[in-house]
Amino acid sequence: NQSLHEFDPEVAAEVDAELHRQQSTLEMIASENFAPVAVLEAQGSVLTNKYAEGYPGRRYYGGCEHVDVIEQLAIDRIKALFGAEAANVQPHSGAQANAAAMFALLKPGDTILGLDLAHGGHLTHGMKINFSGKLYKVAAYHVDGETGLVDMAEVERLAKEHRPQLIIAGWSAYPRQLDFAAFRRIADEVGAYLMVDMAHFAGLVAAGLHPSPVPHAHVVTTTTHKTLGGPRGGVILSTADLAKKINSAVFPGQQGGPLEHVIAGKAVAFKAAATDEFRDRQARTLEGAKILAERLGREDLAAAGVAVLSGGTDVHLVLVDLRASALDGQQAEDRLHGIGITVNRNAIPNDPRPPMVTSGLRIGTPALATRGFDAEAFQEVADIIAAALQPAFDADALRARVTALAERHPLYPTLAS
Ligand code: PLP
Repeated sequence: NQSLHEFDPEVAAEVDAELHRQQSTLEMIASENFAPVAVLEAQGSVLTNKYAEGYPGRRYYGGCEHVDVIEQLAIDRIKALFGAEAANVQPHSGAQANAAAMFALLKPGDTILGLDLAHGGHLTHGMKINFSGKLYKVAAYHVDGETGLVDMAEVERLAKEHRPQLIIAGWSAYPRQLDFAAFRRIADEVGAYLMVDMAHFAGLVAAGLHPSPVPHAHVVTTTTHKTLGGPRGGVILSTADLAKKINSAVFPGQQGGPLEHVIAGKAVAFKAAATDEFRDRQARTLEGAKILAERLGREDLAAAGVAVLSGGTDVHLVLVDLRASALDGQQAEDRLHGIGITVNRNAIPNDPRPPMVTSGLRIGTPALATRGFDAEAFQEVADIIAAALQPAFDADALRARVTALAERHPLYPTLAS
């Protein structure tokens, strides 16, 4: 019964150091967020001890009376949040949600049509060495080189040419909204299922600030830890007629015992996502991304070879195009890291530099919005990033401005550092 600090000071020290890192730097990785303390508490609870193969009311283990209530709360809350007919809250991650959804809808050797990884798609949408690229035949659509927007004419052409059994709409790096109705029309024309992977923008949808894919798609998958701001995990929403197939694809198809401590964290996060506070946070997330796009699109940065892909954003992230800059993605990421801002380099469409280097940055605002950033704070962080991407910059001065912003927006004040 020793505490972590008593029993394993080596691990405890790194957990403390990670808390300090999160508190003292500015987190702008678009797929990250800060889960509320109530979610951390649920995840760190005794629920981690419980085996509960099966579903609420239909378990293969005894003693499930409490986890049954918790899992049913998670299911009911997310169904209400998104207006979905059915929900499976057991996938351990977004990738496993996608694997299970595809396992339910497809046979090995079937064809999927998804957004190319190099154009903003996810590994699970058909990357060659991912399960999706190994088990299924893959056709990939792209964004238009001029506009930076998904080329729906190409989607339609490829759908008619390849006759996929599944079309996937969704992205990991794309700054605009997709036309879900158009995807569904194309899917119907070729007799394909439509799956929308809303992992990135689910929080915006929950807040009513982004069109919902739920009325259009047969299946919607999501992670719970990005804009949704909950524990790391996945969820599959579907129409009622597909629920049985999806459930059996998750368990026993893909997984064994569900992570009930994480499912408890999901239930808490879905409760939070129905509040006005959450809506306000998502509104500031969008506002911050627009401020960032506007600042990084100005003349002084254009002169330094820095541009904003698609000319702006409608979501929680901005894609910075460094093709004309002396800085590559790796150097820009390192530069921002050096002043206390964490982002990730990202390949951009038709990237001339190798994938480990890239010519892009993906910068997101969800974590800072959770930290309480408003328009003024986002303007300051946008100015700091703009200064750091210039050929000459004063790292010490910028680092001091980052520290001041971090101190003005305390993170996890009740957790010891
Ligand atoms: N789907 C999309 C669109 C994503 O961006 C991601 C994560 O980056 C995933 C799925 C996979 O989520 P996880 O990392 O939880 O497996």
